[in-house]
Amino acid sequence: MNNINAENKEINRYNHLNKYLKEKFGERTLKICIDGNFTCPNRDGTKGIGGCIFCSSKGSGDHIHKDSISNQVKNYFNSYKAERANKFIVYFQNYTNTYDTLENLKKKYNAALIDDRIVGLSVATRPDCINEEIAKLLKSYTDKYYVSVEIGLQTANEETGKLINRCYTNNDFTKAVEILNKFGIDVIPHIMVGLPNETHEDIQNTVKFINKHNIQGLKIHCCYIVKDTKLEEMYTEGKYIPLELDDYLNSCAYILTHISPNIIIHRVSGDAPKDLLVAPQWNFHKKWIINGLDKLMREKNLWQGMEYN
Ligand code: SF4
Repeated sequence: MNNINAENKEINRYNHLNKYLKEKFGERTLKICIDGNFTCPNRDGTKGIGGCIFCSSKGSGDHIHKDSISNQVKNYFNSYKAERANKFIVYFQNYTNTYDTLENLKKKYNAALIDDRIVGLSVATRPDCINEEIAKLLKSYTDKYYVSVEIGLQTANEETGKLINRCYTNNDFTKAVEILNKFGIDVIPHIMVGLPNETHEDIQNTVKFINKHNIQGLKIHCCYIVKDTKLEEMYTEGKYIPLELDDYLNSCAYILTHISPNIIIHRVSGDAPKDLLVAPQWNFHKKWIINGLDKLMREKNLWQGMEYN
């Protein structure tokens, strides 16, 4: 265990993002979630239509209020939220935030970087929307900001990949990570637990696949069902059964114990939109997930990376 020292072992069983950001920036640092008015090649017909089967019509950023990018940032700073910290990272969350011309990308990122309290730029995207030019653009912000890219993988099982209609391959993921590594940009993959037809073996294989890459962080989500998605249809027809909380926690514990002790865990739960969540109901209770995972890891004496090799 490298960066979880023995003293902290009882408190931090894995590397929490908040702690990492506090150490990196010297104080509490929060994310401002932005809708950059992007679309996705898996929605506009370039790669697919309808999107991934679990993705909501807002491109997985349902709590963000639509407005111009600069207004979203200004509104945040004019709200009580800005009183909770002095440093912030703008996080382009909805849809595919590198899917545009270089000129437009630059305009959109610049439109968010309008306050001295902003110390970082974080961009969520899909692996087939990263290339050298985009990486170079992102790199150009690193003189002044901490830059990171979150990339969807969800699973290393290509069959599941087809079933969930992600419309990219594991190879796309590997290429994207290599490009971002070349430019020294932190990579945070997203993986999902409880995808249709997946077993524990799939989780094991996804972890093995992830471990072959040079990544700096990880987001773990439960596959949850939101309204008006293909997954909801499958659920209604009895073709998909969401995970129970205990199964999710056990899978999370497996992932955490088998990934590198050096990477930062950005999330162990997704923020399901309250008005759109269909199932599982436990996904409403973030504390059940976070505290349940802490309890499980404490009781079984587990910690991040203990089985990593
Ligand atoms: S790639 Fe992302 S934004 Fe596009 S459909 Fe899939 S989950 Fe939604």
